[in-house]
Amino acid sequence: VPIVAVVGRPNVGKSTLVNRILGRRQAVVEDVAGVTRDRVAYDAEWTGRHFTVVDTGGWLPDAKERAKAIATQAEIATQTADVVLFVVDATIPPTADDEAAVKMLRRSGRPVILVANKVDNARIEGEISSLWGLGLGEPFPISALHGRGAGDLLDKILAALPEAKPAVPREAGPRRIALVGRPNVGKSSLLNKLAKEERAVVDSVAGTTVDPVDSLVDFGGETWHLVDTAGLRKRVSHASGTEYYASLRTNAAIEAAEVAIVLLDASEVISEQDQRIITMVIESGRALVVAFNKWDLVDEDRRHQLGKEIERELRRIPWSIKVNVSALTGRAVDKLAPALNKALENWERRVPTGQLNQWLTALVQQTPHPIRGGRAPRVLFATQAGVSPPKFVLFTTGVLDPGYVRFVERKLREEFDFLGTPIHITVKPRK
Ligand code: GDP
Repeated sequence: VPIVAVVGRPNVGKSTLVNRILGRRQAVVEDVAGVTRDRVAYDAEWTGRHFTVVDTGGWLPDAKERAKAIATQAEIATQTADVVLFVVDATIPPTADDEAAVKMLRRSGRPVILVANKVDNARIEGEISSLWGLGLGEPFPISALHGRGAGDLLDKILAALPEAKPAVPREAGPRRIALVGRPNVGKSSLLNKLAKEERAVVDSVAGTTVDPVDSLVDFGGETWHLVDTAGLRKRVSHASGTEYYASLRTNAAIEAAEVAIVLLDASEVISEQDQRIITMVIESGRALVVAFNKWDLVDEDRRHQLGKEIERELRRIPWSIKVNVSALTGRAVDKLAPALNKALENWERRVPTGQLNQWLTALVQQTPHPIRGGRAPRVLFATQAGVSPPKFVLFTTGVLDPGYVRFVERKLREEFDFLGTPIHITVKPRK
């Protein structure tokens, strides 16, 4: 989603303008210098186009920075925005601060729209030609308060936004899953069990794009596209392929899938090979369900032991969805479809920008970044840059400790339920 940043001195009417763009009143508190806002980023929409409005005035600079507040805003805006709205009060001449900010904005090469606010009538409009002197091109007259010129401004903003990438619709048809695990964990047995439950394994159905080595399998009341089942259903001797070849094939299956079931043998210790397969899923950014098979062999002792192993060996994926199954007895095999669906739903989850930032602002206020070398970098705002898996970008005033990023990720997961999916967080410190 493209970002539109609103920059300007206090009292030029930034908040009123943001409200006007959002099409509602009182969304943002009054533009009084020094007032903390609870949010800085908002979801906006105009004629079907969605964009994020960032109110840079919402970043309350600390006392030292307050003097150069507008310069700071301009700097952040040029770092983060696709289009900058530079707002001036048309009823008074530009100040030296305005000029300094303009210089920075022009250097950045970002598209800047010069918004001449408080043009409540034709008389004031007649006087704005002096704003050409700022060198930002034609001043765009509006009255944020009365709405004069607002629609035209929105049209102009849309025209300046980068081309909308057409949203790639998810390939229709069954969800693509990979069933992976080291030899002998019970993959073929589980597949047979799943397929037999509903007696419907269909290969290469006419008119679908299923690869010859793939299968369509019905279980849990729906059809799944199971990737690379050739190796599962034929009784391939495990000695036939090198481990290297097997691992390439596993990786290819994961890459081709949307969600992977990593099958582990609950009766044996979690091995390095198991770990390597889990790593492949994480690195491919696929949704993940961990299934512990052969649960019929797990007694009290082993269960206790396994609990400790999971804590130690799987601590990097506390977010994975785990199910305990038995391909032999069919135990909990019906839990797999709901687990896969849950993981996929979270894999595709999009958090609205406003909601995300409301939560983030509270979080970083409550637990700010620890002080490093006399300063603590601040997290300014976040956007979700993508899904499948969810990707977030944190805009900050400096580099963050990896530990702090992990903290933000943990809290993000607590708040928005990303069970079953990796999430990516990128930190963009302003320079
Ligand atoms: P794959 O190599 O992962 O496809 O594993 P297989 O499906 O060939 O299973 C390996 C062995 O484990 C076979 O002897 C299966 O009968 C056995 N097995 C598979 N699932 C289970 C289970 O849930 N419980 C028990 N006790 N044995 C199982």
